[in-house]
This record gives sequence, C-alpha cells and structure tokens, in this order.
Amino acid sequence: MRMSQSFIPTMRQDPGEAEVVSHRLMLRTGMIRKVAAGIYSYLPLGLRAIRKVENIIREEMNRAGAQEVLLPVLSPAELWQETGRWDFYGKELFRIRDRHERDFCLGPTHEEVITDLFRREVRSYRQLPLTMYQIQTKFRDEIRPRFGLMRGREFIMKDAYSFDQDETGAKHSYQGMYDAYCRIFTRTGLKFRPVEADTGLIGGISSHEFMVLANTGEELIVYDPSSQYAANVERAHLGPAESATPETHDMLEKVSTPNATSVEDVCTLLKVPLTRLVKTLLYQTGKKDITAILIRGDHQANEIKIQRFLGIHELNLATPDLVSQFTSAPLGFVGPIGLSNIRVLADYAVAAMDNFIVGGNEPDTHYLNANLNRDFRIDGSGDFRQAQAGDPSPITGNPMETARGIEVGHVFMLGTKYSEQMGATFLDAQGHSLPAIMGCYGIGVGRTVASAVEQNHDEKGICWPIPIAPFQIHIVTVSTSEQTQKVADQLYLDCCSQGLEVLMDDRNERGGVKFNDADLLGMPYQIVIGDKGLARNALEIKDRKSGQKTDVPLSQACQWIHDKINENS
Ligand code: ATP
Ligand code: MG
Repeated sequence: MRMSQSFIPTMRQDPGEAEVVSHRLMLRTGMIRKVAAGIYSYLPLGLRAIRKVENIIREEMNRAGAQEVLLPVLSPAELWQETGRWDFYGKELFRIRDRHERDFCLGPTHEEVITDLFRREVRSYRQLPLTMYQIQTKFRDEIRPRFGLMRGREFIMKDAYSFDQDETGAKHSYQGMYDAYCRIFTRTGLKFRPVEADTGLIGGISSHEFMVLANTGEELIVYDPSSQYAANVERAHLGPAESATPETHDMLEKVSTPNATSVEDVCTLLKVPLTRLVKTLLYQTGKKDITAILIRGDHQANEIKIQRFLGIHELNLATPDLVSQFTSAPLGFVGPIGLSNIRVLADYAVAAMDNFIVGGNEPDTHYLNANLNRDFRIDGSGDFRQAQAGDPSPITGNPMETARGIEVGHVFMLGTKYSEQMGATFLDAQGHSLPAIMGCYGIGVGRTVASAVEQNHDEKGICWPIPIAPFQIHIVTVSTSEQTQKVADQLYLDCCSQGLEVLMDDRNERGGVKFNDADLLGMPYQIVIGDKGLARNALEIKDRKSGQKTDVPLSQACQWIHDKINENS
C-alpha cells in the first residue's frame, strides 16, 4: 500500500486518555479510533493486524478439527431464561426489545445458542464428537471498559464449543483445544503461559486461562519457578497451614485503639506486623444472616472461594445496618470474641495462628493474644484467600512467585451443565438418551493484538512480531530524485508480486519525518532507498526490533527479506 493513498492517521502527540502503552500506540499509529466508551472503529492498519490473528486462529481451529460457523449476534431471551442466565448475567448483558415487545440480547458468549442448535440437529453418538467455532463480535456492558481493545464493550472473539459422548472424549476435545491455543499464541509471537483458572460466571469443572505476561495486566498469577505449576491467584489451591512451633498462649488483653479502623492503622499503632492481626469480615449470607470470615491481616479474602465453600452464588459484605443487629462494634472493631448467633469460619492460615490481634467488639478496642478454642470457637476452616508471593506451591512446596498477566484465551470443561438444562441429548450405542458433555473455548482477538503491542514496543513505537504485523516491509525513500522513485516503485512491485506485504512511504515528507513514522508504525523490516546507497547499487535494510542495519545489493533485496521472513515466522 502506498502511504500517499492510504488512511493511516498517525498522531504526533500522546493521546491523554490512554493509560497503557498498547492503547497509546494503537491510537498514535492510527490503528483504532474511539466511538464511545469501549467501542472502537478499526482503521486499515488495525484491521490488518486483527485479520492476521484471525487467520492464525482459523488455521489452527481447522487443523484441530473444529468447524467454522457463524451464529447470530441477536439471541432471544427465552434461550437465556432456560439456563437462568437472563437474570444471572446481570447488567453486563446488553438487552433490547423488538417492535413486538419481545426481549433479545446481544450475545456476550454463545453457549445457549449453540446448545439449542445441537439439541435440534444432533441425534446419535455417531455424530459425535463435534466442535464448532466462530469469529464474531461480542457485546458486554463492562462496568469499566478501558485500555482500548483490552476491555471493550464490543469486541471480536473466537468462541468454540465441543460436544462429546463421554468423559474420555470430552477430555480429548479439551486437550485438542488446549494444544491448538498453545500453537496459536506461539505463532502470534507472544510470550504466554497457560494457568489454572477459576470457572467464574459460565460455570464448569476445569479451566485454563492463557496469560500473556505483561506488567500492565489486570490478572495476577502465582507460579512455581521449580515446576510447571501456575494459577490465577484467585484459583490457586492453598492447603491447611502448619502451625508454627506451638507457642505458649499468653494472657488475653484488651487495648485501646482509638480511631484505628484499618488493619494498617491498628498495626502502626501497636507496632506489630500485619501478619499478627486477624481481620473479621462480615458477609451477608442470607436475608438476615451473616457469616464472619477470619483472614490474616496481610492476606486478601477471595470471595469466589468463600462462595464455593458456602455453596452460594452471591456474596456481599454485610451493610452497617445488618452488622449493628449482631454487635455494637462499628466496622473495623468487630472481632470473633463474644460474637454470638453468627457462623465463624477461619481461613486455614488463621487456624494455624497463636496469640494474634482481633477487633474488641466494642468501639476503639482490640484484643491482644487472642487464641482459637480458648477465647472463641469457629464453625470450620477452609481456603478462603487469594494466593500471594511466598505461598507454597501445591506441587513442590517451594515458595511461589507472582506475575501480572493479560488473559487472552480461556478454555473450559463445561460438563453437562448446559446440555442438561437445555435437553441437548443424544442416543448412545445402546439406545440410551444421554446429555452431551461440553467444553467452551474463547480467544479475545483484539485483546491479543493489544497484548502483542504491550509486549513488543520501545520508546519510538511498535516492534511488530512478523506473523501479525500489518505489513512486513516498510519502504522509505529519502530522496525525491527520479532514480530513487523508479527503484522504489520497482522494488515495491517486485516484493508485492512475491507475496510480501509492503507499505511504501512515497509521501513528500522530510527523511526524518518518514523515519520517525516508520519506527512508530513498527513494521518488522524497513528498506531505505536513497541516492547514496543507489550510487553503490545497494539498499539499507533495518530490522525494526534489533535496530540492526544491513547493506543488501539492490538486485537481492526482495529475496533477502523473503528468506528472513520465512526464517522467522
Ligand atoms: P475477563 O475476566 O477479562 O473479563 P472473561 O473471563 O469475562 O474475561 P471469557 O468469557 O472467558 O472472558 O471470554 C473469552 C476471551 O474473550 C477472554 O479470554 C478475553 O481474551 C476476551 N474478552 C473477554 N472480555 C473482553 C472484553 N471486554 N474486551 C475484549 N476482550 C474480552
Ligand atoms: Mg469478563
């Protein structure tokens, strides 16, 4: 494509609204433009990168035996009511009503629609296994759309669904998609890691997230440097902790802690580390029912784990009003000693502590040297917190480390949740009717492109990995002489006819401007054509990422790059 005729609206200045580098660079390079919060137009360069990712996904899905379909964006409320997700999905679901007052939603994901297709069309085990996928625009009214394509309200997703007749088959399908995901993210040139994940809103029995490692990632993962183990901090399994060498139980002592409502305030006032304190979190677990969860001062409660332990779907901190019906202590001073009519559960780490500090259950007081069983009783203990750096690996017991990640893909083993709810059954070889065992598998296409920018840039701009670069070559002419123009035109045509993708800067701009733009846009190879080089019959080829420059004879330039690209992609 010739730049003089292309629509690449670059920006000289950094856009103020962009908080992360990928968002900033995608705006500056004219790849995307915002239409409304979380809603973007893809301009030519952005769309080319997106299509490259889609093509890699499509090739690997097809190779894994999945078949491409395209389901509608609009789906009728009835399907979502059958699974209960019309209510359960809450405000994230975009809902609309047609002229006949019928309710629809804009698909945020497609389990309902595909399961409906299956139950209408598939009858026999002979038609299984079956995996279908689509690449389509999804809609989610995210509470905090941000970071450009990372978290949009309208975004492109590849979603796939597998149907199997038994557990073994389902595991095989899951593994097939897992392997395809590894190939896809390897081919896009991303540094990524599959991690054990939580099954969240969609529900299911086993799941992995594919995380691109990046400091700006919204997800936190723990990993064991001495094994393959990695998990989302929300998911990482933490077993019962061992008690430190049994200490003597010191005398319980009530101390005054005026206005110290936060864990930090109390610890500063009493000059003790956060690890000595136990927080008492009160959650509403029924209409008039609350449950106290005890968590060590430096630990974070994990509401998903607590919900799972209690077998409930929703968990909110109790309102001050409700709290006042159980204790006279204001929030911040609640503790387990003397609490009655409340179920008290301790995180495993708390269950192993001695002589700790807890709220005094009256204003401005705390207790020192509280001890379980002596001073109060608990109704059970469990894994109620997020993992953090230093926690033992479930594989080796060694301390784990943490890293930030961007979730680009997600694979779920769904089991029979949807097929049972919606009656998606088939007849097995003996003529028994059984629910199909399902899996579902998503990749955020735009988020993958944004993650690639996040991982591949420097202070001058993007350094595209070859497989997803909008163009492979950027030709820069630094002279307006007739000879330079002629050589550039010829090289452009030669490269294009060899199937190479070339952006040619034929604009009437100064060399400096063109070089800056070439570095900003970040195509993997820059070819510089100027009078000096041509006098020697040579061109300068610059590798954008390493900055390395090579003089290549004019007649070999096209082939040289062709070979390089084949080597590196
Ligand atoms: P998140 O926790 O980031 O909200 P999710 O668990 O809701 O993600 P899935 O339902 O598993 O996401 O969707 C599959 C994939 O779609 C995700 O792995 C991610 O790459 C992408 N994705 C999800 N939500 C968005 C969004 N709002 N904008 C862009 N991509 C998204
Ligand atoms: Mg989400």
